[in-house]
Amino acid sequence: MSTKDFLEKDYYKVLGVSKTATQDEIKKSYRKLARKYHPDANKGDSESEDRFKEISEAYDVLSDDKRRKEYDEARKFGVGGFRSQPGGGFGFDLGDLFGNQPGQGTGTGERIGDLFGGLFNRGAGTRQTGRRARRGADIESEVTLSFGEALDGITVPLRLSSEAACAGCRGTGAKAGTVPRVCPSCEGTGQENRNMGNFSFAEPCRECRGRGLVVDDPCPICHGSGRATGTRTIQARIPAGVSDSQKIRLKGKGAPGEAGGPAGDLYVIVKVGPHKVFGRSGDNLTITVPITFPEAALGAEIKAPTHRGQPVTLRIPSGTPNGRTFRVRGRGATRRDGTKGDLLVTVDVQVPQKLDDTTRETLERLRASGSGDDLRSELLQLAREG
Ligand SMILES: [Zn+2]
Ligand SMILES: [Zn+2]
Repeated sequence: MSTKDFLEKDYYKVLGVSKTATQDEIKKSYRKLARKYHPDANKGDSESEDRFKEISEAYDVLSDDKRRKEYDEARKFGVGGFRSQPGGGFGFDLGDLFGNQPGQGTGTGERIGDLFGGLFNRGAGTRQTGRRARRGADIESEVTLSFGEALDGITVPLRLSSEAACAGCRGTGAKAGTVPRVCPSCEGTGQENRNMGNFSFAEPCRECRGRGLVVDDPCPICHGSGRATGTRTIQARIPAGVSDSQKIRLKGKGAPGEAGGPAGDLYVIVKVGPHKVFGRSGDNLTITVPITFPEAALGAEIKAPTHRGQPVTLRIPSGTPNGRTFRVRGRGATRRDGTKGDLLVTVDVQVPQKLDDTTRETLERLRASGSGDDLRSELLQLAREG
């Protein structure tokens, strides 16, 4: 739009309002006309399209107090001074007159272009599209696995209930066959600046509730929100070696984005059930294995179970105390890098509950040998000190 347009076009007439019309009157009239001449309501009618553009252009200027004032001044000046010139040519840029900086001087035309770019998908539309695209929300879900499933990894079907794009309008919020238009109040930014005394702060635009778009003809299914609660089932791949309460991030499996925005992520919180004999300590598996007192005292080779594998032979050295832990390398849980943790075998020295005669005699001989006599003497001594 050139400054010449400013002088030649009667925006008040276009919107059918008086020169002293209030913002409310302007807005009301604009909405009525925009609905009537919206390109979707007048398919292929180029006259309506032109009229619609004219209306939007007029509203773009008159709805902005500052620009309306500029326009009023330009017209007063233009009509009184230059209009009478035959041929109607203009010798200078009226931008200078308005005190605009170069580059800013074409601001009006740029914004109009932006507005239509977004709506008719011409020219400067990409900037608007980028502004409107929204990333989908992250979703959290929980899955309970058996001990073995967590170690092996498993693909589980997850039923997710989440916000999805409305199927009726594919998320635009506008009735099928119509498109939302760029919010004239915030020009698609979704934000408006409010002045409070010396402060100015941005808050979500009240006209479009921060969406940047206004729907004239709302979709009857979602009532204009563009969102629907959808239930979908996805196959979630849980990697081998997950542990209890671990959070797995599945990128892009969250709620779908809006207007070409990326989908959110899905976070799966894994609950792992217990095993009858094995436990988990990070990447390691743990197990407690009973041994006899002679095995601990004299040393022995024992068989220790592994998870889903052949038992391993463990050498217990002579003089092994109760509760000592032995490490069997590579028999634990799978790590993220594919290597494996260890199996930690803790021995539990058993005291026989029933004694046959031979065992009793043997133990009594052991006691008589006096090996236990001074076992507690140091402890008793230390307890007396301090
Ligand atoms: Zn807005
Ligand atoms: Zn809808």
